[in-house]
Amino acid sequence: MDLNDLQLVLKTPLGQVFQRINQVFWVCSADMSETLYISPSYEQIWGRSTQSLYECPESFTDPICSEDRERVTAAVEGLLVGVEMDQEYRIIRPDSSIRWIHDRAFPLRDETGHVYCLAGIAEDITARKQAQEALKESEQAFSESEKRFRQIAENIDEVVWMFDPRANQILYINPVYEQIWGRTCQSLYERPLAWMEAIHPEDQGRVMGALEKRTTSGGEDIYRIVRPDGEIRWIRDRAFPVWDETGQVYQVIGVVEDITERKIAEEKLRKSEANLLSAQRIAHVGSWEFDVRSQQLTWSEEKLRIFGFDPTQPEPTYTQLVEMIHPDDRPIFNQAVSRALAEGTSYEIVFRIKRPSGQIRHIETRGEAIFNSAGQVVQLFGTVVDITERKQALEETLKALQRERELSEAKSRFIAMTSHDLRTPLTTIQSSVDLLKHHHLKLSEEKQQTHLVRISSAVGQMTSMVQDVLLLSEGEAGQLQFTPAPVDLGQMCRSLVADLQVADKNQHSLTFAVSGECETSPLLLDSKLVRYTLTNILSNALKYSPTGSAIHFDLTWHQDQVVFKIQDQGIGIPSEDVPRLFESFYRASNVGTTPGTGLGLAIIKQCVDLHGGNIAVDSVVGKGTTFTVTLPLSNSSQV
Ligand code: ATP
Ligand code: MG
Repeated sequence: MDLNDLQLVLKTPLGQVFQRINQVFWVCSADMSETLYISPSYEQIWGRSTQSLYECPESFTDPICSEDRERVTAAVEGLLVGVEMDQEYRIIRPDSSIRWIHDRAFPLRDETGHVYCLAGIAEDITARKQAQEALKESEQAFSESEKRFRQIAENIDEVVWMFDPRANQILYINPVYEQIWGRTCQSLYERPLAWMEAIHPEDQGRVMGALEKRTTSGGEDIYRIVRPDGEIRWIRDRAFPVWDETGQVYQVIGVVEDITERKIAEEKLRKSEANLLSAQRIAHVGSWEFDVRSQQLTWSEEKLRIFGFDPTQPEPTYTQLVEMIHPDDRPIFNQAVSRALAEGTSYEIVFRIKRPSGQIRHIETRGEAIFNSAGQVVQLFGTVVDITERKQALEETLKALQRERELSEAKSRFIAMTSHDLRTPLTTIQSSVDLLKHHHLKLSEEKQQTHLVRISSAVGQMTSMVQDVLLLSEGEAGQLQFTPAPVDLGQMCRSLVADLQVADKNQHSLTFAVSGECETSPLLLDSKLVRYTLTNILSNALKYSPTGSAIHFDLTWHQDQVVFKIQDQGIGIPSEDVPRLFESFYRASNVGTTPGTGLGLAIIKQCVDLHGGNIAVDSVVGKGTTFTVTLPLSNSSQV
């Protein structure tokens, strides 16, 4: 074949292909002294003109990298003596970039075996080389990372395992397994499912049931194992499957933690929470938390119970809580909470709430602020106690104490009264008796009579006093006799007024008036009690009014009741004394030296009560007092 033949070949379709392919196709004379053909892609790959090769064939070695040149030259020499060449080498293009070339060359022989030319095909394998390079690097990196993986795996507290599900083989397990399971890693390499033998019998079925799913799609399991020494450990086992390009799991990687301590702590916490709940329930102490940022209020079960809610229902909000508080107590509550939020102050307050059932309860709450590291209030925490019963008991105790105090005051007043009011008439009696005994001869008949009258009047005073005490004690014992009988009330009042006017020696103007519809039939009243009542009120009016002042006694008939009104212009009664006037031995603070025992009104009250009536006082100090007694009517025809 000569050059002409080659030119002919190049004109054929095959030649057209040579012209266009990316590979460089070349032909040269058997001694390489002449370039016969080189395809145009040489210019793209080498960045040099084909012309330069036609002119100087040996210049093809010029761009070869110095590191590769010797090797390529040796191969070319081999080619010249008939050895095929297959070389990869780097060239440096004029723009200094480097390309990898794969160059294969063959001596072409005629029928006699004579080499008549050399032909070759060279291609740019830079991309492949780079990929190989990258692969090599990544392989290096992989083995590096595997090294690192082992380093890490062997220095952590968790068990790390790798399992090949297709080969049913453990690929790797770190020694932590031996510490946790108390069994050798070797046993696992020999029998990959040996780890399961340690699972607690109660958990075994569940773990085995979930095993396949964990192997194919990963997941977590928590179970107990029993170590050879009998110790039980809690395990958290997580599996991560690794899939190949076809979607098949070719590896499962797992991480196993010993969570025994955490489980024990959780159990302790659960128990202590349960204990706290029980303690709250037993002690009736509720607790709450208020989160400042979310404005969320959390209630303990007992707090819900105290506020009358069902603990299984959703918790009420802060606004709902405030709405339950008695309107009068809300300012105290709001103020305490606002201060705690703004200044971090703790508080202890009592307020009333209205339960959803409408029941009112007294609540004592204590609150404390919780701060973050920046010193800001982030939470309020506190307790609530239902103190309704305690409060009621306290009120009753206070009432009992008050009664006790009153009783002891009454006793002291009684002692004072007896020592003074009984002593006075006794002294009178004693002095008159002494006079009559030792000096009766010297005394005139008239004087002796005067002393006898004084003795009799003193005895009368004492008798009435003793009667009062008796009446009162009968009344208090519920033994005061109530014997209603027909009474001519108008007549009774008139005679009473007349008696008192005489006793008063007309020092006051005592007037009596009757108004209203007077019943013709006699009324049914206990005349003894009514007389006692009116006598006492009228005596008080006379006793506590200045000489010359007027006292009006009005009797008014109504259809169903009779009203006695006794009005004076006396010293009056201080308003603070009015509520206690009907207590035995109680006297107002302004009585001064006016004698009295404080028993009259106490007895009157009982008389009026026995009639089913009512007594009222209206008084202004220095102006006068009005007592109004109302008795319901029941005339003889109704009995
Ligand atoms: P006694 O047992 O002798 O009647 P007393 O008059 O002091 O003694 P009460 O009749 O029970 O007792 O009256 C109680 C108190 O009420 C009196 O001590 C007096 O302070 C006050 N009081 C009663 N009536 C009047 C009145 N008309 N004006 C001013 N104070 C009165
Ligand atoms: Mg009196």
